[in-house]
Amino acid sequence: MSQVPAIRLRTVKEAPVRRDGDWVLYWMTAQRRPRYNFALQHALHWCEELGKPLVVLEPLRCDYPWSCERFHRFVVQGMADNARAMDRKGVTHYPYLEPEPGAGRGLLAAWAERACVVVGDDYPAYFLRHLPRAAARQIDVRLEVVDSNGLLPMRAADRTFARAYDLRRFLQKNLLEHLAEAPESDPLDETEPPRSKPVPDEIAERWPAAEPRRLLDEKDGFARFPFENEVPTVETLGGHVAGEETLLAFVEEKLEAYGDQRNQPERDATSRLSPYLHFGCVSAHQAFDEIADREQWSPKKVSSKTAGQREGWWGMSPAAESFLDELVTWRELGFNMCSRETRHDRYESLPDWAQKTLAEHEDDEREHVYTLEEFERGATHDDLWNAAQGQLVREGYIHNYLRMLWGKKILHWSESPRAALDIMLELNNKYALDGRDPNSYSGIFWVLGRYDRAWGPEREIFGKIRYMTCDNTRRKCSVDGYIDEYAPSDGQLKLGFD
Ligand SMILES: Cc1cc2nc3c(=O)[nH]c(=O)nc-3n(C[C@H](O)[C@H](O)[C@H](O)COP(=O)(O)OP(=O)(O)OC[C@H]3O[C@@H](n4cnc5c(N)ncnc54)[C@H](O)[C@@H]3O)c2cc1C
Repeated sequence: MSQVPAIRLRTVKEAPVRRDGDWVLYWMTAQRRPRYNFALQHALHWCEELGKPLVVLEPLRCDYPWSCERFHRFVVQGMADNARAMDRKGVTHYPYLEPEPGAGRGLLAAWAERACVVVGDDYPAYFLRHLPRAAARQIDVRLEVVDSNGLLPMRAADRTFARAYDLRRFLQKNLLEHLAEAPESDPLDETEPPRSKPVPDEIAERWPAAEPRRLLDEKDGFARFPFENEVPTVETLGGHVAGEETLLAFVEEKLEAYGDQRNQPERDATSRLSPYLHFGCVSAHQAFDEIADREQWSPKKVSSKTAGQREGWWGMSPAAESFLDELVTWRELGFNMCSRETRHDRYESLPDWAQKTLAEHEDDEREHVYTLEEFERGATHDDLWNAAQGQLVREGYIHNYLRMLWGKKILHWSESPRAALDIMLELNNKYALDGRDPNSYSGIFWVLGRYDRAWGPEREIFGKIRYMTCDNTRRKCSVDGYIDEYAPSDGQLKLGFD
């Protein structure tokens, strides 16, 4: 089993490895997959070195912010896949679903008590970013967390990039050395850790393991959880099996047209990978590998002549380069920001020029002002906006081009830029499968000027912030079918279970 690059490892609890422990514990909280997973690989490396079995603890609280059946079911579908993959290899997979707030307290510490070392996920956003520190206070064994988020390790750059162009330049100079240190595609196939010991009775009794398959088959099985929000489930299946199928179908059937059609909402030309990337079911490394294979790419194809340009560096087809610019540059901008700026989710983290121009226009008269509830119900005067909100509520997704418009109009039609930020965060994180992600903060703060420049002419409300209109979008893209499909027919979207 190859070693995980040191730059991806962080020791959160400095304690010696307990060589006489009973197992190595992988505490899976963000990278919920058995393949292309540096954290799993690192845990298995410890198993080899210590001659110990592996236990994978995959817990899920019931009161995480914006908790709801939609997200829970997606994760539980993934747990079922993970259980199958681990069982096949004789690894103990211990899924746990907290039945009520606080019930899971003590579970990690109980598993850690007999562990040689605990390995966790290093994820820079949402409540997950605080978990390792909190855990370190509860356990007395070594805790290491692993960055398996993207192609560029989060600690490879020592600055926060203000523009996509700056990160692209950096990537073009530095990415190849990190690509050479990719994760094992199937770490469970690379080694055979000793068979696990039985689950300790005190753990099984106090924190009974979830039965993901059974729960998914049960009618109303999720009704027992005290979720924060009533957000019904969607058709999109969770888990690494569905995620890999989505990836392969995209590469085979859609990639070729991606460059030309990705901005056409009615074309379904994008990958739809974001929920799988968000919940860690699919790794960016695996997506990259599939593309590189199809393009018969090797590092020799990389151009030495580019300096931050969007196309031409990889030496791949324009469609593949366009996709990688989203998957790598744009996606990893968010990881760079969230891992370095603890206040990345605050209004004050916007660039100074953006805050200044928005402040100068804060008192401009607004023709339309909607409340959170009106936005949520898709009850604005514009049926294209209402349709985008309808897609978000119904499917947990909005096409990227319309998502930009969706955000810009919330800025336009809210009583202030700060109110707009709160509304975007609430609606995106409440309904989007891929919400609560570093990309959520990139996209939402982009609406308010992050990663962008000042634009002229200066306009009301927006000031120098980039402006978008529904009429322009109607001219550029065909949206009639989209409006028919998603706009509420009787003026208001149905929410929750009503
Ligand atoms: C207001 C607003 C809110 C957004 N909220 C989120 C969010 O909560 N979660 C989220 O993952 N993305 C968010 N985005 C970015 C983008 O809209 C989605 O990543 C994309 O639409 C997902 O669809 P896809 O997987 O089919 O994308 P594809 O076009 O197939 O792209 C592949 C992957 O690249 C990444 N990517 C694509 N576009 C962007 C982008 N503009 N910025 C950053 N990464 C990108 C995503 O990981 C995506 O899955 C938001 C954008 C805006 C304007």
